Amino acid sequence: MTLPPVLTIPSALAHLGEKGVLGLVPTMGALHDGHGSLIRLAAAECDAVVVSIFVNPAQFNDPADLERYPRRLELDRAFAGDAGATAIYTPDAATIYPDGHATRISVSGITERWEGEFRPGHFDGVATVVAILLNQVRPDRSYFGEKDWQQLVMIRRMAEDLVLPGEIIGCPVVRDRDGLALSSRNVRLSDEERATALAIPRALRKMREAVGRGETDASALRSIGSSVLNQEPTVRVEYLAVVDPATLEPVETIRADSRTLIAARIGAVRLIDTMKLTDSKGSMTLLS
Ligand code: AMP
Repeated sequence: MTLPPVLTIPSALAHLGEKGVLGLVPTMGALHDGHGSLIRLAAAECDAVVVSIFVNPAQFNDPADLERYPRRLELDRAFAGDAGATAIYTPDAATIYPDGHATRISVSGITERWEGEFRPGHFDGVATVVAILLNQVRPDRSYFGEKDWQQLVMIRRMAEDLVLPGEIIGCPVVRDRDGLALSSRNVRLSDEERATALAIPRALRKMREAVGRGETDASALRSIGSSVLNQEPTVRVEYLAVVDPATLEPVETIRADSRTLIAARIGAVRLIDTMKLTDSKGSMTLLS
């Protein structure tokens, strides 16, 4: 297969829009099958697909996390090409934030809890870079993972409020065979930590099963999830929430579309996960 070209300035992307429907899959690289599912869907729905790879300093509230973030462009290029990317867009920091850049986008309300509380400034960094990327690439459709549920809701809100180009498409969480949601950070887990991290999808599954048996009380469901996570003393839970999927506010009684959100640290690695509680498969896309 031919490797997709690596383009570094927005004007180099201009011709891609002429091919017809243009798709954009924004990523920070270290691509895995979660990203792959976004790229494959984009390739199925669009005439050309740009995969952006930019490790956005503005969204890291922990400098050590930014430093340790995996970077491997050539592997990503081949992976993205296999999944159907037409081009890779890897702007450098000055192309996104030129000298004098002074604007931050902040989406209020839905960003205040959960990730917003535990990662101050994170969502402003994400909103700002996504707005810049959408304006630079001007896609017809952009693809984001439901794994980052709060982020997806925020991006939809921002895109509508700021009349940003294109449609925002959400894609289901892709999990490894053992149930762990794929994440670029998983490579930093030791074997032992990875086994421990499985408490996260186990907690989600137990909560979903309880809903299947008729439990609708959110605090009872949170207790079920917490007791699974607490069986692993090295899992440090930051939040385990049962929320309204649109407002991200906690609910007392679950409805058809309620979601649970979990963030936890295992050693030095912070993981997040989410599941729709009434989904019989729990929105699980497992690698075969
Ligand atoms: P990242 O490179 O981590 O910023 O992720 C880029 C995009 O891939 C985001 O829209 C994520 O939500 C999405 N993504 C990451 N992991 C997964 C996964 N396991 N399943 C589905 N989408 C994912």
